[in-house]
Amino acid sequence: MGRVYNFSAGPAVLPEEVLREAAAEMLDYKGTGMSVMEMSHRSKAYEGIITDAEKDLRELMQIPDNYKVLFLQGGASLQFAMIPMNLMKNRKAAYIITGQWAKKAYQEAALYGEAVAVASSADKTFSYIPDCSDLPIPEDADYVYICENNTIYGTKFWNLPDTKGKTLVADVSSCFLSEPVDVTKYGVIYGGVQKNIGPAGVVICIIREDLITEDVLPGTPTMMRYKIHADNGSMYNTPPAYGIYICGKVFRWLKKQGGLEAIKEHNEKKAKILYDFLDGSGLFKGTVAKKDRSLMNVPFVTGNEELDAKFVKEAKAAGFENLKGHRTVGGMRASIYNAMPIEGVEKLVAFMKEFETHNS
Ligand SMILES: *Cc1c(COP(=O)(O)O)cnc(C)c1O
Repeated sequence: MGRVYNFSAGPAVLPEEVLREAAAEMLDYKGTGMSVMEMSHRSKAYEGIITDAEKDLRELMQIPDNYKVLFLQGGASLQFAMIPMNLMKNRKAAYIITGQWAKKAYQEAALYGEAVAVASSADKTFSYIPDCSDLPIPEDADYVYICENNTIYGTKFWNLPDTKGKTLVADVSSCFLSEPVDVTKYGVIYGGVQKNIGPAGVVICIIREDLITEDVLPGTPTMMRYKIHADNGSMYNTPPAYGIYICGKVFRWLKKQGGLEAIKEHNEKKAKILYDFLDGSGLFKGTVAKKDRSLMNVPFVTGNEELDAKFVKEAKAAGFENLKGHRTVGGMRASIYNAMPIEGVEKLVAFMKEFETHNS
């Protein structure tokens, strides 16, 4: 049985090398006689795993010392609530609505205070990133929120919004570690790891220390306070231990690839193969504004729903999995995260060319 080319948006493809290593260590992690799954999170062996994972992530992203790295649970979706509960001191925040995930975060924040939609690309089904150079950000807004890479629609903020001095909070679930970042531009960077880093069940939250306070909204559950997790080194309770272990392996794999500069170059090369084909194709078309194209999620259509369905079906039979577009937008979407090898994209394009020849 061979492995397929998996274009899933998440949970998604992981580096084969990482999976093999994990398999080799499954029954006996480094002479402990047990699997990481069976290990106390307070053990020496596990302490090594989580400490190294954080150290490698800090090195990859060049995270300054005044930022904490938290390994949390509850998915990116729980952060939609944790962010306002911890950060909305004035009970007001600005949200930029560039897709479903941003909209969900905005709706959740509205449960706790005044969420102000300062820009949106809903008018053109989120196919572009709005101009964010001069937004009407309220004077007393506690933060400005973006979803930096829109997994469903395939757009990416290539320029961060002018927040007019307010704290920037970014959901980077689907572009985490895909390119270098200047962490100092953000107050909070967070994401679920199941898109580009590891198995579902871990959320990484990188947060500037001054934003971690006791001053949270009344009624905020203990488990939803950043301070509790920060004070306890992500070990207030049992962390998602096995997931963090796999994330740690992916961090090491990324370092071996040459770090984030190198992976960005690789991602650009990969995405270009697909976008160049889409731009020249008489059958397939990309669906988003060129200047806002994501390197990670590439939606496309033929313009004919029946033909889209035929394509997805035939692609699957040929070993290209999970190319169906999100259930709310239809068409196709190829997610080409860090771990998707370049041959996967080359072979997909060759298959698309052939499909085009037979169907136009
Ligand atoms: C997948 C995704 C989410 C939701 O993640 P969960 O971990 O399932 O809650 C949120 N934001 C973005 C950008 C995503 O891609």
